[in-house]
Amino acid sequence: MQITLIKPQGFCGGVTRAVSLAKKAKEDHPSKDIYILGMLAHNQTLIDDLSKQGFITLLGNEEEEINKLKKGDVIVFTAHGHSEYLDNLAISKGLITYDATCFKVKSNLEKIQKEIEDGHQVIYIGQKGHKETEAALSISPQVSLYDTKLLINYYLITDKNPYVINQTTLNYYELTRFYDDIKKHIPGARFENEICDATRLRQEAMLHIDKDVELIVVVGHKKSSNTNRLFDIAKTHYPDALVMMVNDVEDMKVFDLSLIKKAAIASGASTPSYIVDEIYEYLSKYDSR
Ligand code: SF4
Repeated sequence: MQITLIKPQGFCGGVTRAVSLAKKAKEDHPSKDIYILGMLAHNQTLIDDLSKQGFITLLGNEEEEINKLKKGDVIVFTAHGHSEYLDNLAISKGLITYDATCFKVKSNLEKIQKEIEDGHQVIYIGQKGHKETEAALSISPQVSLYDTKLLINYYLITDKNPYVINQTTLNYYELTRFYDDIKKHIPGARFENEICDATRLRQEAMLHIDKDVELIVVVGHKKSSNTNRLFDIAKTHYPDALVMMVNDVEDMKVFDLSLIKKAAIASGASTPSYIVDEIYEYLSKYDSR
């Protein structure tokens, strides 16, 4: 089987920093439990690895989870961003906080804040329920969600020049469609493309593999937005290929791939590279099975 590794692979800068910061919290407070408020980044293997190292991931309602902690406990906020309300709640409880919000997400949230202070309304293109989206919406009621599936109620927007910004891990190629729709309703809207490089480069690379590829393996967690978008792009652009999204090599073992001659492996920005190596090795041995 001929196998192409679609690059980039491995953690993006935001996830690398989040993992380092969580480890720093542990070094700074060796005798304490380190709590992480939600998945540090959206990958189950990463969360399992952190758990083996003693980190405790809190998966319940964030406000309730913070309220259960006591003064002096250590909490790490995840790479996806969070509301100022949760920040203030943690501080008021006397928790020791570490903020692993990715720089790209942070700058995105700051741009929204500035537009609100300048008196503008903001249209945020994102996925309802995603933590990054929730953080953006929490800034002000003047931020309206343009959900990638449900779109938007335009009557909410009275500003003739609203600022349009987006979640960092959407489909780069789908944004134009949303822009066109918004422009039709609000010609004076101002747009800022905030797809992060880690997401964009993976999507670009996905478009440039051999057209006759028979199998595309997208490695990552079902909650990972950038992994899901890679999967969508692969399905759309390679309709004749078998496209699968897997968390790890175990997920692949249910498939009979004996007839596949040409495969490609892509992975999300929060997928540990050793998982991709294991899948590469698994596929490499297929011919000799
Ligand atoms: S995928 Fe992009 S936005 Fe998310 S953590 Fe990585 S660099 Fe930051």
